[in-house]
Amino acid sequence: MRTITAEVNNTKKKKAPVKGMMDNVMEQFNSAADHIDLHPNIRKILSITNNEIIVHFPVKMDNGEVEIFTGYRVQHNNALGPYKGGLRYHPTVDIDAARALAMWMTWKTSLAGLPYGGGKGGIQLDPSQYSQGELERITRRFTFALADNIGPEHDIPAPDVNTNSQTMAWIADTYMSTRPPAERTANQHVVTGKPDGSGGLEGRDRATGYGVFLNIKFWAERRKEKLKGKKFIVQGFGNVGYWAAHFMEKEGAKLVAAQDAFGSIRNTNGIKVEDLYNYTRINNGSLTGFPNAFDLDNEKFFTTECDICIPAALGNQITQKNAKSIKAKLIAEGANGPTNVEGEKILLERGVTIIPDILCNSGGVVGSYFEWLQNRNGELWHLDEVMAKLDKKMRESFNKVFDYSEKEGMDLRTAAYCIAIRRIEKAYIQRGIFP
Ligand code: NAD
Repeated sequence: MRTITAEVNNTKKKKAPVKGMMDNVMEQFNSAADHIDLHPNIRKILSITNNEIIVHFPVKMDNGEVEIFTGYRVQHNNALGPYKGGLRYHPTVDIDAARALAMWMTWKTSLAGLPYGGGKGGIQLDPSQYSQGELERITRRFTFALADNIGPEHDIPAPDVNTNSQTMAWIADTYMSTRPPAERTANQHVVTGKPDGSGGLEGRDRATGYGVFLNIKFWAERRKEKLKGKKFIVQGFGNVGYWAAHFMEKEGAKLVAAQDAFGSIRNTNGIKVEDLYNYTRINNGSLTGFPNAFDLDNEKFFTTECDICIPAALGNQITQKNAKSIKAKLIAEGANGPTNVEGEKILLERGVTIIPDILCNSGGVVGSYFEWLQNRNGELWHLDEVMAKLDKKMRESFNKVFDYSEKEGMDLRTAAYCIAIRRIEKAYIQRGIFP
């Protein structure tokens, strides 16, 4: 295992570099830091990650051969509490992506008023190329390689793209198995997003998507509008996209286009969310070929006539290349970093509202916090209780950001960043810098 110190801005760039997620999060951070006149020392601290862990580990494949994998865990900041953030299994996972995603987690947990910092990680792989048994061994060996770099009071991973409650159960079991006997069961909150029967929270599966839906509902309420009859599109029909669409449909809104890693579909008369979900279950997870819609070129997906667009897949999907053709009046960011800085400028100039990721998809980490509390206190909460608590917390965050943006005359993202960064700045100023 190799632990290295971050050198976020030290990479010498050649001409016209392609901007990555790290450039976006730094531009967003610096813009908000300028607005609040952030203390220069705190700006220095928050511009860099605390720890970056890169592990290379061997795993025996089904055919008996050994493959070496590279895993990442970036711990950006823990001024407010243990590092918190997901683990992603995807070919695009690298140190730059993990840094950016870890930083977003720091802002997100701070904005939500949680006692957490921000971390993120994952493994660079395409999980569709591995059997379930291989994925289990990869996950367990990755957990073993991370060793004491994670822990229930230190760094608490959760699901993200291509990881789920099963992945979290394997991590919890491996971590607990490697603790001294007397500490084993007391460590199940080393991860959140576990299955119901293994210390998981009822409703954690839908928490992020429900939070996305709530943010859209609160936005509509502010405009004295109803969601009934509104048309929406969803990019990414996984955990976040599906649940967001599920709750939107329940409120009377109409899904008119969807996109996943396999392709895009459209039906301006409406696509039934549950029918589409059931179809993906029997179609290898893909929505292409859904009988009650037309397959669509991926480039045309964002041009669909609609009121609301929910990007719920990967980062950098809405850019200067497609922002002009987006028809929606509202972008609700289910994904982390789906809109780049240039794309956002175009959208804001066109009067499109963006509910930023660190607010819009924070239902997931709030649900994770509930699960962590439940495990820590030996409690079991019922679904109704969880959803009511989530509702209250999301409303508080939304109102805080919306009111600040109106008061200061700024967009919702900048407002969200200002609130989040101020909270961390306060903690540093109160405590001072050791020694
Ligand atoms: P998931 O693995 O359950 O689903 C991802 C979906 O995106 C799948 O439908 C996949 O086919 C699709 N996809 C992948 N690549 C794509 C591409 N290039 N174009 C279009 N679609 C593509 O993942 P998830 O948990 O739903 O996470 C989605 C996003 O939400 C990520 O950005 C993640 O960081 C963010 N997020 C997730 C949570 C959570 O609790 N799971 C919380 C906060 C934010």
